[in-house]
Amino acid sequence: MEQSARRYKADIVIVGGGPAGASLAVRTAAAGHSTVLIERACFPRHKLCGEFISPECLEHFRKLEVLDEMLEAGGERILETRFFDAKGRHFTVPSSVLGGGLHALSLSRSTMDRILLDRAREAGVRVIEGERAGGLTVEEGRITAVAAVDEKGSRSTVEGRIFVDATGRRRSLQRLAEKSVGNGIWKASARPAAVAFKNHFSGSGLPPNVCEIYAFPGGYGGLTTVENGRANLCFLIDPRAAKAFGPQPEKLANSLLPMNARLAQTLAAARPVMEWHAVSIDSFGQAPAPSLENLFATGDSAAFIDPFTGSGMLMALESSALLASAITVSDGVTGAIGAIYNRQYQRDFSRRLRVCSLLRRAASLRHFPTAAVALLRSSRQARFLLAASTRGGRSPARTL
Ligand SMILES: Cc1cc2nc3c(=O)[nH]c(=O)nc-3n(C[C@H](O)[C@H](O)[C@H](O)COP(=O)(O)OP(=O)(O)OC[C@H]3O[C@@H](n4cnc5c(N)ncnc54)[C@H](O)[C@@H]3O)c2cc1C
Repeated sequence: MEQSARRYKADIVIVGGGPAGASLAVRTAAAGHSTVLIERACFPRHKLCGEFISPECLEHFRKLEVLDEMLEAGGERILETRFFDAKGRHFTVPSSVLGGGLHALSLSRSTMDRILLDRAREAGVRVIEGERAGGLTVEEGRITAVAAVDEKGSRSTVEGRIFVDATGRRRSLQRLAEKSVGNGIWKASARPAAVAFKNHFSGSGLPPNVCEIYAFPGGYGGLTTVENGRANLCFLIDPRAAKAFGPQPEKLANSLLPMNARLAQTLAAARPVMEWHAVSIDSFGQAPAPSLENLFATGDSAAFIDPFTGSGMLMALESSALLASAITVSDGVTGAIGAIYNRQYQRDFSRRLRVCSLLRRAASLRHFPTAAVALLRSSRQARFLLAASTRGGRSPARTL
């Protein structure tokens, strides 16, 4: 049964309260724009992720005034990442070469996303939690309102001038927009590009202050220590390889352990402490720009970068900072926002997205992971180039 609708009005309406949406909301509210953010989940909530927060994110946290809270939330400072091939040989990338500081941070998404969303509220953002955006009003090629509904059917309608899709890889707002103007570009892909799983473990043998990445046939996984000494295992695998092991995540994880000697050793005495989370990944790389003039995309909804780079959250924070600044300098004129944002977006992200796409294709070649580990073990220069090419390219080479 439909309940009575609540109505709101704002300059900026953001759908999605992950790092892209929440950080954008803090920035637009601080710049004096009335901002409403709609998030379908109620925080805190778990989120499938490697939970590796790269060092460059910490500068964004400082600007968003959440750095101390993030650092004191019980996660771990990560000084280096070790990449292991199937036989247990590895190379190391110190966090300092990624740029932005001497350490990365591992913290559960449940905690990190909650801190950012609380900060948005504190900055004056009206946060509508537990409601899914599911309908748009479009007039003369512009969105004028978005409707959201909670589990019980209670509705909110939010009118605005500028709308932002920060819904992550599903790009929900852009799908709704395409539907409402009759474009058919959003066909569900026949087969996902990858499937991913995550769980927290107690009793892992992971050394302190280290993130480990493990290659295995058809995919890779990462392990990092989050709050309460628990280790977050997150792995990504080709759907065909996953199917061969059967549909149960626990069985799949157990089948993968013997495929990487180091992973087997590190998790030998570990136990999962929560339900498995699983998602499918339709595609990687940049999405087409939204076709409505006052709709913009940020974070994963603009582009999804391969998780092995540990830079998805960085791109979410960086792209939101670009969009916030484009909104401010163009005085809210939507045509100008689009021109500035799109130009700066291509300048900052297209090269790293291209490099990651090439690396992903190469990684599917049979002997590539072993050959890559051998090369990167022996060459400081190759390690630096790899690290720099997956970020903005301005990372200083320090202690590799
Ligand atoms: C397997 C895997 C491992 C990863 N590991 C790492 C890592 O270690 N480090 C790293 O930096 N990045 C990692 N990433 C990438 C990282 O998770 C993303 O880049 C990041 O979450 C993007 O943030 P976002 O705010 O754009 O989207 P999200 O974090 O996905 O947030 C989107 C939000 O929108 C909400 N939403 C969706 N639809 C609606 C709707 N219709 N109405 C209202 N709300 C809606 C969702 O509930 C969600 O809270 C990983 C990704 C994957 C898949």
